[in-house]
Amino acid sequence: MNELNVCLTHDIDRVRKTYQYITKDLRMGRWSNLGSLFTGEKPYWTFEDMAGLESKYGARSTIFFLHETISFEPFNRDSWKLSLGRYSLREPEIGEIIRCFDENGWEIGLHGSYRSFRDGPLLKMEKKVLEEVLGKKIFGIRQHYLNLDEPDTWILQKQAGFSYDATLGLRYRTGYKDERMAPFIDTASGMKIIPLTIMECCLFREMGQDKQKALKRAIEWMDHAQEQNIYYTILWHQHKFNEKEFPGYRWVYEEILKECKRRNARFWLCRDVRVDP
Ligand SMILES: [Zn+2]
Repeated sequence: MNELNVCLTHDIDRVRKTYQYITKDLRMGRWSNLGSLFTGEKPYWTFEDMAGLESKYGARSTIFFLHETISFEPFNRDSWKLSLGRYSLREPEIGEIIRCFDENGWEIGLHGSYRSFRDGPLLKMEKKVLEEVLGKKIFGIRQHYLNLDEPDTWILQKQAGFSYDATLGLRYRTGYKDERMAPFIDTASGMKIIPLTIMECCLFREMGQDKQKALKRAIEWMDHAQEQNIYYTILWHQHKFNEKEFPGYRWVYEEILKECKRRNARFWLCRDVRVDP
């Protein structure tokens, strides 16, 4: 049996709740979730929990931080999601958590902002800001919403100084895009491309939000990766660790880690992923 190679990743889309109180909780009649609006709790600040969980199973992951600068347009609802509740890499507590992860063996990468996949100068600016906060060079990127023009985005990323991209994946279901499963070098750009196996929201949507079924599907993909001798790459947004709002998500993540541990999996940071494992 092949060794199981696992690549855990997180995209940090938002660290606090703002517009979601209006668009989601009120619509769903979830009054209880509104509590934290008034008490000052931070329902999406799940970093300590996430780090503790991974440490417990001897794992480390790659964490992609976003620097969204799109402006709020009151009559464009799409801009709410992108502009409200966003955080800045320059906030002291964001800087602290970024450096803390880095010092303890996690990898920090850039979560390229919504429009950056077609904007070289924006990519360069975001990379520079993150590197200033981190105090060292970063290697990788994943684009927000998995936005990708092939190979144009990769060429722009390479020009901005990145060496790998972890964007290649499906937005609406689990599994690989166009059967591209193993990491490869894109010939047009020279970038290392790391395909995504599972994103947590697709997994739960596919399985009707049933956590047992979601776990079963996640394990099937794990078996597949091990059989094919490719990386099992998963994306779990950190705000989904809030069990009150996303019941079952944290549980499934921990069960996946347990199974990885049971199979003696090797955990990889994205920057160390090999094109020929
Ligand atoms: Zn994102």
